[in-house]
Amino acid sequence: MLIDYHLHLLGHEDRKATVENAAEFLKQAENRNIKKVGFSDHQRFYKQFDFSVIQEAGTYFPDLEVKTGIEMNYIPGQEQRMTNLMSQFYLDHTIGSVHYIGDWPFDHPDYREEYEKWDLTELYKEYFSYVKEMVETGLFDIIGHLDLIKVFDFRPEEGVMELVEPVLEVIAREDQVIEVNTNGLNKPAEEIYPSRRILERAYQKGVTITLGSDAHSAERVGENLDQVREMLKEIGYREIAAFSDREREMVKL
Ligand SMILES: [Zn+2]
Ligand SMILES: [Zn+2]
Repeated sequence: MLIDYHLHLLGHEDRKATVENAAEFLKQAENRNIKKVGFSDHQRFYKQFDFSVIQEAGTYFPDLEVKTGIEMNYIPGQEQRMTNLMSQFYLDHTIGSVHYIGDWPFDHPDYREEYEKWDLTELYKEYFSYVKEMVETGLFDIIGHLDLIKVFDFRPEEGVMELVEPVLEVIAREDQVIEVNTNGLNKPAEEIYPSRRILERAYQKGVTITLGSDAHSAERVGENLDQVREMLKEIGYREIAAFSDREREMVKL
């Protein structure tokens, strides 16, 4: 079964939350044979959230299970604020994502030159320490795009696996879920998040996964998820996590 739990109805404020716009996303999900769909807009647009339009659009697609969630930007020390924000909404799932190192939005193309200032091994170490800290808070159901730091294809010569190992360790110990996110294929990294190597290691450690396209427009809903499913089966995965009311259940991949 295919799931896409990482959809941005609002994009980056590209459109409004309307039944028509939500229906466009759902139509594409149906075209791509997705069975469970989850909207997860960025928390910074929370004032524009309107889950009622999502539910209404869902009534036109009775074969789809439509869920509502949020993508939270993880900022160390802001746990209480994040909890308060999430408690305002009925959420089926929450995605925790690291988009900032200090005040640097490292996945934003306008701030790309900042990479030149870093030793890449140090940068990756710093990034994964944020992710590890986020996992340790236990605040989120899904760990978003685990190796997003590769987005612009700045990569250390070697050693990424050693840096990610302690993070996978905590994810496995805390029994958290990582998403397999296909949006990296559209970026200079030209690779899913996380990489196949990381997923193979995650599988060995018994880490649970789920799926997301990170679509910021209807066309991208479910993009490349069928190919990814084949790859995940090669690795050994047979089940993926689905969420309702922040409870996890496993479904056949
Ligand atoms: Zn993100
Ligand atoms: Zn996203």
